Amino acid sequence: MSVDFKVREFAYPMGILRLRRFFEKSQWLPLEKLKAYQEERLRRIIHQAYHHVPYYRRIFDSHGLKPQDIQRIEHLRKLPVLSKEDVRANYEELRADNANRFRPALSCTTGTTGAPVNFLLDRPANILEFVYYWRFFGWGGYRLGNCLADVRYDYFVRTETTDKAWHFQPSLRRLLLNSLQLSRERIGEYADALRKHRPRFIRGRPTNLYCLALFLRERGLDDIAFETAFLGGEIAMPELREMIERTFRCRTMDSYSHMERCVAVSQCPAGGYHINLEYGILELINEKKGGNGVTTGQVVCTSLYKMAMPFLRYKLEDVLEVYEEEKACPCGRTLPLVKTIHGRMRPLILTPDGRSVSALSPPFHNLKGVRSFQFIHDEPGRLLVQIVKTEGYTVGTEETLKLGLRKFIGEDMRIELAYVSEEELERDGLGRVQMVMSRVGAPL
Ligand SMILES: [Zn+2]
Repeated sequence: MSVDFKVREFAYPMGILRLRRFFEKSQWLPLEKLKAYQEERLRRIIHQAYHHVPYYRRIFDSHGLKPQDIQRIEHLRKLPVLSKEDVRANYEELRADNANRFRPALSCTTGTTGAPVNFLLDRPANILEFVYYWRFFGWGGYRLGNCLADVRYDYFVRTETTDKAWHFQPSLRRLLLNSLQLSRERIGEYADALRKHRPRFIRGRPTNLYCLALFLRERGLDDIAFETAFLGGEIAMPELREMIERTFRCRTMDSYSHMERCVAVSQCPAGGYHINLEYGILELINEKKGGNGVTTGQVVCTSLYKMAMPFLRYKLEDVLEVYEEEKACPCGRTLPLVKTIHGRMRPLILTPDGRSVSALSPPFHNLKGVRSFQFIHDEPGRLLVQIVKTEGYTVGTEETLKLGLRKFIGEDMRIELAYVSEEELERDGLGRVQMVMSRVGAPL
């Protein structure tokens, strides 16, 4: 899940408040006004890409295009899509020559396929992210200042406190629950923290919230409830949602977004999956009509805010089903609806010390000399890590990696590294390389 309410986000409140005011109004605007807004932002991004990003200048020139050729959403199709491979191969050229104006920071993602991609996020993208989540959480009843439980691991890794089960941030009224230590043995610590701080809202990956619910139930700890559980980061399977809702006597609201921040879809109180048009431009490619009023296609998205490293027509692995005819949501919001999101679902890795770990990729982030990698959990207590190396991978890299992996999966799991070629990575039934393949039943 891509947002982190960092203190530095509050350092530019004017930008946040201005965009917030717009976001409050824009969700009810007629569709043509929303599209006009998208196109106004698009023209700014195109200007930035053409005049300041060497990669895009080259692409525009080689296609005989000028910024004035891409003024409207449908004009985007004149440009080729940008794949993860393109971003990897052209990182330096994708950086705008005026990037520093936008306070860029390096970020990294692996998606589901186990091939890391570095990119820049900047201040406009941070403001957008904050405002987007503020509105989405608001749909679920949240107001700034309410206490929120947040199941994640990045804070604990960053502060080298991965052994801690939780940490409370009083200034943000946020209770961080460490997803890396979630286990039957330590569930009592989580229950104590939740009783002490009494958050009304919780958010996290469905698999993590499911494990939290399951372990609490098994212990007969049934006094913890929320108003809303916000889900994201992976597909929310109905049986997981049902268990979360039943255990915490709450509603669940699902969302879909990416670290790269080009697209955001979120569920409203009426259950509709709304495309946040103000966030990015969503296109589908390789479309197939289902014959039932629904079209399925692969997600291609254009960021409307990232200036330090704009992504135009960025191709993701996810598949969406959309309605061919405009469909109104009972909530009254005009943001268009998606029928279904087929995307990320990662198996959990069950460690010998009883933890269920869903995040394994961070030790690979920003590591030099790795083209792609894959985790194979083929027997209890053993994790095989297949790595496709490139130049720059050294003995030191291996050591850093092993230490990083230990932080995530603990001391008791046997880790074996194997160096393989791209072709030797295992594929699923559809021929796709998945970052995590498990042949050991998760505790679900
Ligand atoms: Zn709605």
